[in-house]
Amino acid sequence: MSYFLPHDRLESWLDDLERTHRVFAPTAEGRGVVFRRRKPTAESPAAPVCLERRPTESARHVLFPRSEVLLAFRSAHDESGTRVEVFEQEAPAPQVIVGLRACDAKGFAVMDRVYMHGRYADPLYTARRKATVMAVLACVPGNGPDNACFCHWFASGHEEHDAADIVLTPASGGFLIAPVSDKGAEFMESHAGYLEQGNEELENAAAAQRLAAREFLEKHCPAPALSKTETAIMRQFGNSMLWETIGEPCLACGVCTHLCPSCYCFTITDETRGNAGARIRSWDTCLNAGYTLEASGHNPRAAKAQRLKNRIAHKFAYYPALHMGKSSCVGCGKCIRSCPVGVDIRAAVFRVLAADEE
Ligand code: SF4
Ligand code: SF4
Repeated sequence: MSYFLPHDRLESWLDDLERTHRVFAPTAEGRGVVFRRRKPTAESPAAPVCLERRPTESARHVLFPRSEVLLAFRSAHDESGTRVEVFEQEAPAPQVIVGLRACDAKGFAVMDRVYMHGRYADPLYTARRKATVMAVLACVPGNGPDNACFCHWFASGHEEHDAADIVLTPASGGFLIAPVSDKGAEFMESHAGYLEQGNEELENAAAAQRLAAREFLEKHCPAPALSKTETAIMRQFGNSMLWETIGEPCLACGVCTHLCPSCYCFTITDETRGNAGARIRSWDTCLNAGYTLEASGHNPRAAKAQRLKNRIAHKFAYYPALHMGKSSCVGCGKCIRSCPVGVDIRAAVFRVLAADEE
């Protein structure tokens, strides 16, 4: 079953979702489009949702916060000894992310394999993931693929919804909304108040739009032989001249990793004051020099070229080796659009493949 949401009811529909869910949606801030929690109140409406521009950042922080307290503790001393109380996080409330693109939802599929289905499931990520509905906005011509996108390399694009629950496709003065998972169907049944029923004509028009977006992608950026990438990267691993050329312009600023929907590294710190403290998990990135700095002072990836090599190798070789050949890059192009010095991960892949064929 599909639904139709006219443009002029979009904000009301989002506000209505707040009845049962915390709602996260893209909103324009400065030159960027970022995911924020909508919090309409009686005194002030929520910031307007921005669905007409691609988000600058991914929605990763909604499930995997930039910094979060894993647990807090407090100790008390008396004549019977020391007691330590530990406070853990409460179970997450139901939430919905509206307006992430298919590639960003695919980024959560990348993280699921590590934090939900891996050998050691992360309880906080898993609980949030289960409590979250993903309402993807399909990319269509004029509101979607640009020259930095290459999701079709990984089937991360418009017809691939394996991490999505609902797909909204811009169509004829509104959005065609189609559930693509059981969770999505259940969610839509209880949030159809502002919606009209979809029909075959709208569904066909929406499918044609999504196909046109895909055709644009295939034409502007044909995929390389990705099956060869893993082997080529490993064979070229010791080719330091190649990696120095690729990494030469990089500033090691880490912007690419912070915007990426599928980078998931973190560091943990214990912070204490008096007899209380907290264990805090914060995003980290392999592009930071300190990421691999050992206590002895030795750093196995002291040079930025080595660190960029690690990032590329993780996306296209290490992760696929552990996850049935699936790349951890989803082709969203965020790193390409926002790199201050124009490093293009696609060009790096082509360069490694070319070097391997020489
Ligand atoms: S955004 Fe560009 S310059 Fe910054 S770390 Fe990434 S590749 Fe290097
Ligand atoms: S590496 Fe770049 S293109 Fe690939 S998923 Fe991350 S931000 Fe997107």
